[in-house]
Amino acid sequence: MIIRVRHVAAACVLGAALTACGAPDAPTAARPAPSSASSAPADSSRPPTLTPGAGGLTPVFTNGPRTGDKTVALTFDADMTADEGPRAAAGERFDNPELISTLRTLKVPATVFMTGRWAEEYPAEARSIGADRNFEIANHSYSHYAFTGDCYGLPRVAADGMKNDVERAYTAFRKAGIAHPMPYFRFPGGCYDRQVLKTLAPTGVTAVQWDVVSGDAFATDSDAVARQVMEGVKPGSVVVMHCTRSAAPATERAVRAIVPELRAKGYRFVKVSQLIGAAAARH
Ligand SMILES: [Zn+2]
Repeated sequence: MIIRVRHVAAACVLGAALTACGAPDAPTAARPAPSSASSAPADSSRPPTLTPGAGGLTPVFTNGPRTGDKTVALTFDADMTADEGPRAAAGERFDNPELISTLRTLKVPATVFMTGRWAEEYPAEARSIGADRNFEIANHSYSHYAFTGDCYGLPRVAADGMKNDVERAYTAFRKAGIAHPMPYFRFPGGCYDRQVLKTLAPTGVTAVQWDVVSGDAFATDSDAVARQVMEGVKPGSVVVMHCTRSAAPATERAVRAIVPELRAKGYRFVKVSQLIGAAAARH
């Protein structure tokens, strides 16, 4: 697992320019109830979240229930690092409109973990993704800097700036016109520790990791990416991929292969919120 996480993290670092999506709602509005799993079916307008861990730590979600429906969530990290503006200005594309278009054509629900910097660079795309009921936008930080030390060489967010970095992404989402960002947060590089989970607790987010690494970062062989996904997916899986042409050029082709194959195996694509809701409902 560590190796898999590192693999993705390394990709995130190198591909700091990856695009992402975001949502503007204040995460605190979706803080889970203090009881157990808080799918909160009584309030369908509120996204499901997990109950904080012992000591009020930010809960961490990795995958949905392994039994029951054969569901799988494709997630796309829209990475762009705070210092990559000059690269974008020079023509590097951190977005991937073709990928979004393919997901729409294939009618695949998906969750996009967007950095605030990405939303600033591509506000029209961010708004369009956010307005599409097939998609949901979650938080991948504003800066795409690391929340722990030793995280693939990423610059590190200061301890007293972490909460602000998460909230600044929601502010960027709001400015881009994203109406309903999800209270979910994916750590840049997937790097976190207990202290960080404590620090972010006041934001009310549920941290979202993954159990299947697609290996799409910097991949040029879409067949290899598709194979890795097909070998890794189980019921309830969360697959991590990227939404950026410059750092994940084979992803759109891989998705075109993965979607029909998984459907042929009986899988149904869902958003992360649906897996979290299913997990919460089992408690
Ligand atoms: Zn990332």
